[in-house]
Amino acid sequence: MAQIDLLQKVANAIKTAKHTTAFSGAGISVESGIPPFRGHDGLWSKYDPTVLDLNYFHAKPKEAWAVIRELFYDFFGKAQPNAAHNVLARMEKEGLLQAVITQNIDNLHQEAGSRIVYEFHGTAQTLVCTKTRKRYPASSVDLSVIPPLSETGAVLKPDFIFFGETIPQLAFKKSVEEAEKADVFIIIGTTGEVMPASMIPQKAKLNGATIVEINTEPSLFTRSITNVFLKGKATEVMSELEKLLFAETG
Ligand code: NAD
Repeated sequence: MAQIDLLQKVANAIKTAKHTTAFSGAGISVESGIPPFRGHDGLWSKYDPTVLDLNYFHAKPKEAWAVIRELFYDFFGKAQPNAAHNVLARMEKEGLLQAVITQNIDNLHQEAGSRIVYEFHGTAQTLVCTKTRKRYPASSVDLSVIPPLSETGAVLKPDFIFFGETIPQLAFKKSVEEAEKADVFIIIGTTGEVMPASMIPQKAKLNGATIVEINTEPSLFTRSITNVFLKGKATEVMSELEKLLFAETG
């Protein structure tokens, strides 16, 4: 089937669905200038992933924070939402999307205007005290001095999960619920290689959702659970979809 026919099919499915959920990965933010972690040009080809190892972080907080600050605050902080984030926000506003589950920690869905966002891997927007678990907005903390410390003198850690940490409980619970409720489940820009996040689309499939996938490359989902694969960049595919979804309203 031609891509335009596939897009029309997806637009029709979304318009008639009771519940549509989106599930995003690093690929949705690539066109905002944030590369994925893995792959040829991935961030881990330039940075050492050890900085996100909890033992290393506790043993060498200053060294870990030097990289964390550069990568997740100086670099990610400059990124702006792109058309794909914007279309999802518009869909929610117009009642065509009930929730976004994201593996990303870059806050770009919220900056685009999405309100129901479950951050499966946590967020860079808050810092958590490693002693009391009290949370602080990252914007209120002076990162010119590293490692940043809480009032108790304990090291502050970004509130996203490091290797080996468990998924935030509420985000996990809500993600499962949103997957199970979905008639249409849209996967955007993710390899499906990161566990347990990759279980979430499987749950949607098991509950009978139509799985739509948008990616520049096939992923682990493409052959296993995807019903409609829309090959292409997230911004381009989502902009085409937007035209079909809002044809009458302009
Ligand atoms: P991932 O599993 O999130 O996969 C990235 C996917 O995006 C790949 O399948 C790739 O083909 C696809 N892709 C690349 N450019 C695209 C585009 N323009 N449009 C659509 N799809 C595109 O990969 P990862 O980076 O190894 O992720 C590991 C974990 O780290 C994930 O949880 C991820 O969300 C997180 N991460 C988050 C950010 C962020 O917050 N922006 C950045 C890097 C990694």
